[in-house]
Amino acid sequence: MDKTERDALQNANFVDTYIHTDGMAWTPFSEGIEIKVLRATQETGTWTALFRCAQGSAFARHEHLGAGEYLMLSGKMEVRGGVEKGGITAYPGDYGYEPNGMIHDSTCFPEQSVFYFTNFGPIRFMDDENKTVFVLDWQAIAKIGAESAKARAAE
Ligand code: ZN
Repeated sequence: MDKTERDALQNANFVDTYIHTDGMAWTPFSEGIEIKVLRATQETGTWTALFRCAQGSAFARHEHLGAGEYLMLSGKMEVRGGVEKGGITAYPGDYGYEPNGMIHDSTCFPEQSVFYFTNFGPIRFMDDENKTVFVLDWQAIAKIGAESAKARAAE
């Protein structure tokens, strides 16, 4: 058996994922923010998405219940007030790692921005007293993805 046959035999056991994201529609996520769900996994609770954030939009106060990673694709993101207030200002091409347990009071977008994001668990949105408002876990993400696919199929 040559290498090509061997590889084909092994790879027949797996399904890889390929998504042409330009062909996907943006789905409303929160005010001024839209999402394209790329992946949500039951095994680990990890999920991956693209976010498009309108100029002036922001993610509400939240706590990461799993580490997150992002890559800025366009625009400008100000985490924890941005670099001028001791936080981070991310530009296209910038990568960030957000530790499990990190609290982000508000993440703002001074201009329209798109970024790739993977979170290794849920995100807990909360009020100023840290009371839970909404938990964004893999099931909530999968539901958004499924509804978006259904809407596309109905078009
Ligand atoms: Zn965050």
